[in-house]
Amino acid sequence: MKFNLADKVFTTVSEIIDKENKEAYIIGGWVRDLILNRHSKDVDIVVVGSGIELANKLAKKLDTAITVTVFKNFGTAMFKYQNIEYEFVGARRESYNRNSRNPIVEDGTLEDDLHRRDLTINALAISLQKNNFGELIDKFDAIKDIENKIIKTPTNPDITFSDDPLRMLRAIRFATQLNFNIEEKTLQAIKDNVQRISIITKERINDELNKIIISKKPSIGFLKLAETNLLEIIFPELYNLKGVEIVNNVGHKDNFFHTVQVLDNIAEKTDKLWLRWAALLHDIAKPITKKFINNAWTFHGHEMVGAKIISNIFNKMKMPTNENLKYIQKLVGLHLRPIILSSEEVTDAAVRRLIVEAGEDLDDLMTLCEADITSKNDEKVQRYMTNFKLVRQKIKELEEKDALRNWKSPISGEQIMAALNLQPSKTIGIIKEMIKDAILDGKIENNYTAAENYMYKLIQENNFII
Ligand code: ATP
Ligand code: MG
Repeated sequence: MKFNLADKVFTTVSEIIDKENKEAYIIGGWVRDLILNRHSKDVDIVVVGSGIELANKLAKKLDTAITVTVFKNFGTAMFKYQNIEYEFVGARRESYNRNSRNPIVEDGTLEDDLHRRDLTINALAISLQKNNFGELIDKFDAIKDIENKIIKTPTNPDITFSDDPLRMLRAIRFATQLNFNIEEKTLQAIKDNVQRISIITKERINDELNKIIISKKPSIGFLKLAETNLLEIIFPELYNLKGVEIVNNVGHKDNFFHTVQVLDNIAEKTDKLWLRWAALLHDIAKPITKKFINNAWTFHGHEMVGAKIISNIFNKMKMPTNENLKYIQKLVGLHLRPIILSSEEVTDAAVRRLIVEAGEDLDDLMTLCEADITSKNDEKVQRYMTNFKLVRQKIKELEEKDALRNWKSPISGEQIMAALNLQPSKTIGIIKEMIKDAILDGKIENNYTAAENYMYKLIQENNFII
């Protein structure tokens, strides 16, 4: 197979190596993605010799304004050119010791370099030599694996995964992104090496998890993580959702399968990583709130407990604990509210409350709740969806009428204190809350005068201890 590579970077590399009688190849992800028709914004070039030297010479020839970044310790160099990142490295041979995924590196041939790659589909190369410019080098029959949609290691999977256990996650991640199957022996080797994942940093694991979550059908990855038992080690809280308990012949749904289905549902509606995370975590506290009462399973309060424990989970996983975490906590904490609304008579007051509490995240909350409907019973799903439409309609009407999104009390604590000549105290908070209730219940209008009048009325009618 030969590719027609017109790109100036590639032809210039070809000229340089031709003069110096060297070999260079495009290698790895970019080649894979070219064949798969995916867009790849990073190109890896391997040279038999020094990658840093090649990068410097090439940059000078292409455009003197290019800044080459050199990583001396790794023997690599990179630069950005016309929005594409090029990385240059010398061909190498690797050997590993048991405690680290970082290999001992020696100079090597192209063949050595292909042998150290994680998967056959990532061990493709394209020659940049003049005599066979553009020719595909497929040492491990990767084209066949691409045709058959197979994820497989180029050499013994047991050694490949034990050497660098991150590759197990990469294998599952590529299976998810590409919707490929993992070859039997490769899958078995993951099962046999799961404990090795402990030498991988949490940050690396999170990168792969996020790539799975942001895939078109994330359930593929999570089911594989569960099947291989990797999930139990890297994300035990999610793993614990698995299983069905039966008492007196009464069971409940398997919350793990439900959760990954919700994740697939939401993936069809949004590419927002953190909204997808909210879907993944929405039922996370079901195992710890589960009770069998009056011959039925309940998970009372799982949304509030869930919102609480997510910060521990994120801390432990070293996921970022900034405003993204707060956003997820808010959505998880509120995720039952639209459902409750839609199964009762939809009152204006309840919808107003939801609008105010969800604030700018209301649309995302509704997306999460719609994704959460996964019953096998079509009639039930339809009924919920119709009710949700009503809730959405009502939200729209009330928002237009009452301008509730990003609602702020028309009267501030300071204004209440000034009007009543009070010092800061609990009472101010209580009065403010009662005014909020009155507005959301539609008893008074949403403006300062109405709020002030209502405040005086409250003072007259209640025996506040001031
Ligand atoms: P993506 O860019 O979508 O994450 P990629 O396969 O291009 O996927 P990179 O991290 O850019 O991943 O790595 C480039 C190439 O380096 C890979 O295609 C593969 O050949 C090799 N590689 C990356 N990580 C490993 C690893 N842990 N073990 C062996 N080879 C690896
Ligand atoms: Mg890449």
